[in-house]
Amino acid sequence: MSIQPIKKKLTDGIKKPKSLREVPRYLYLRIKGFLTRLFYIISLVWRASPAVLISLCIFCMLDGILPVIGAYISSELLNGIASLIGIQSTGSLAKDLFELLSPVIFLFVLQLIHHFLKRLMTKLNSMVTSIAGELVVNYVKLMIIGKARTVDMRSYDTPEFYEKLENANREASMRPIGILTASFNVISSVISVISFIVVLATLSPIAPLVIVVCSIPGAFVNYYFKNKSYLYLRRHSKERRQMNYYSSILTSKDYAKEVKLQGLADTLTDKYNGAFKKYYSGLKRIITKEGLTQALVSLLTVLASTALFVYVAYTVVFGNGRIGDYSLYTGALTSISTYVTTIVGATATVYEGTLFIENMMDFMKEPVTVVPSIPEPKSPSVGTPHTIEFRNVSFRYPGCDFDVIKNINLTLRTGESTVLVGLNGAGKTTLIKLITRLYDPTEGVILLDGADIREYKVDELYSLFGIIFQDYNKYADTVSENVRFGDVRSTVTDENIECAARRSGSSDFIEKLPFGYQTPLTRLFEENGIELSGGQWQKLSVARAFLKESDILIMDEPTASLDPLAENEILRAFETLSQDKLSVFVSHRLSGAVRAGKIIVLEGGQVVEEGTHDELMARKERYYLLFSTQANRYV
Ligand code: ADP
Repeated sequence: MSIQPIKKKLTDGIKKPKSLREVPRYLYLRIKGFLTRLFYIISLVWRASPAVLISLCIFCMLDGILPVIGAYISSELLNGIASLIGIQSTGSLAKDLFELLSPVIFLFVLQLIHHFLKRLMTKLNSMVTSIAGELVVNYVKLMIIGKARTVDMRSYDTPEFYEKLENANREASMRPIGILTASFNVISSVISVISFIVVLATLSPIAPLVIVVCSIPGAFVNYYFKNKSYLYLRRHSKERRQMNYYSSILTSKDYAKEVKLQGLADTLTDKYNGAFKKYYSGLKRIITKEGLTQALVSLLTVLASTALFVYVAYTVVFGNGRIGDYSLYTGALTSISTYVTTIVGATATVYEGTLFIENMMDFMKEPVTVVPSIPEPKSPSVGTPHTIEFRNVSFRYPGCDFDVIKNINLTLRTGESTVLVGLNGAGKTTLIKLITRLYDPTEGVILLDGADIREYKVDELYSLFGIIFQDYNKYADTVSENVRFGDVRSTVTDENIECAARRSGSSDFIEKLPFGYQTPLTRLFEENGIELSGGQWQKLSVARAFLKESDILIMDEPTASLDPLAENEILRAFETLSQDKLSVFVSHRLSGAVRAGKIIVLEGGQVVEEGTHDELMARKERYYLLFSTQANRYV
């Protein structure tokens, strides 16, 4: 399948002006948007570290004022030295030197102090900027993590969300400090430019005006292309995500086996290259066009400044003729031209950066819908029997045009262990995601103890569940931590962890590991890390679910990678543990269903049968068919 860029038209939300009358409003909206984003970044850096922001402000002021002071000292020094030329020698070197230097010695000391201050400030500035960079990156990453933990599961079902996440992750952490330093660069350059304009204006008010006017086209070119490349990068987020995806597959241990043995490396590298080419070709065009246009425009500035140089030389030579003044005015000209270029470049960088920050602002605005539906949400009762009731529940995933769960009515109760069976894709896992409020039904209502589950506090609702999913997590941490993640309250002891491990049948292999429960798992961080087998990992995930003193125990295919003996062991532990809990066991292996209090058969998102093993076998319908087919395979 070919890779297509996202088709939707991306702009920064402001419509281009259709007539001249709309231009002021357009400019107003752009500047307003720019300032809002800039303020957002400054507040971000302030929240990350007020001291850093204040220091950067001070350095910025000094950076602005020091160059003009330096130019004055140099010009006075030059004038002083020039006035000494032609003085007669007294014959004594010391006396001559004193004679020579005494009028300018003060200026030399001033110049020394100036140089020292300038260097000191540059060093301090780069030190504070590096510290600020680390602090801000960390602060922004934590903001992104903080937001990511609250977003709905449904957000992960849409490519738009991944686009926002990718954009926020890629840009938002590095940009703020870059934008801030560029902003300060602009401010200090503006201070320098104003002070040099004041100096030059004493010679001619027209000269600074000419040089400033000549830089305006360059500024327009800069803004135009920065905007263009921003929109391009946003539009091509899909290709960048594809590149990340293919490169992560090609460098991931989990994929390595299949990639090697199926000889997929070349194919996947081609796909990576295909995405890169698509992404890069347009970007290269924008960069080249910008470079060429900038070169043409800078020719204009060079011509103007050369003409002004000639003019200054003429005015000084036919004016007071002081060489120091010539140096001061030509220095001022060069500086104005350099600083104006810096201002144009840096404001364009700030502008571009703030556009990228909009990605992060978008991400932070991602709506969260799994929240309590009433202003004063309820707390679910804990440690008591529960009832979960589905009333006419239907559900479809975002972006899908069919229901995955269709008008389901069922009741689950504490003490009545329920097994959910059905073929792959029947909707079993989706049903679990609805019970646990990872998603809300599209139609109907789910009641917990008689009240809509949307009326409960979400965190407290979640804490009722002890759960393992079929795609359980494998944490690169110790064995003990892998179990502890089932219940992170501080009251959980090592004995609790060992007990859960025993119940899940993991203790046998854990005790044989070199450091027992403290053995690090995976080689991601530790050289002596241990790699477990699929079945061992699964047992640990079961231990995790067993650790929690939960009222509702849910296991989604917890025995898929286990041998029959281990499966039997887990089923027995599950039965014992679930006696006083509301328990749901999902499996397409039916061995676990035989002793279940209630079996629910799902097909195409609907409940097609409900009853005990004996009742359903006697009916000789779906369950009977499934069970007999599986049983025959083992005969
Ligand atoms: P089961 O657990 O019974 O194997 P699932 O509940 O996982 O089935 O899936 C039921 C149906 O929902 C399948 O057709 C599957 O393709 C679809 N589905 C599952 N997850 C998503 C998702 N995040 N987005 C869209 N469709 C999904």
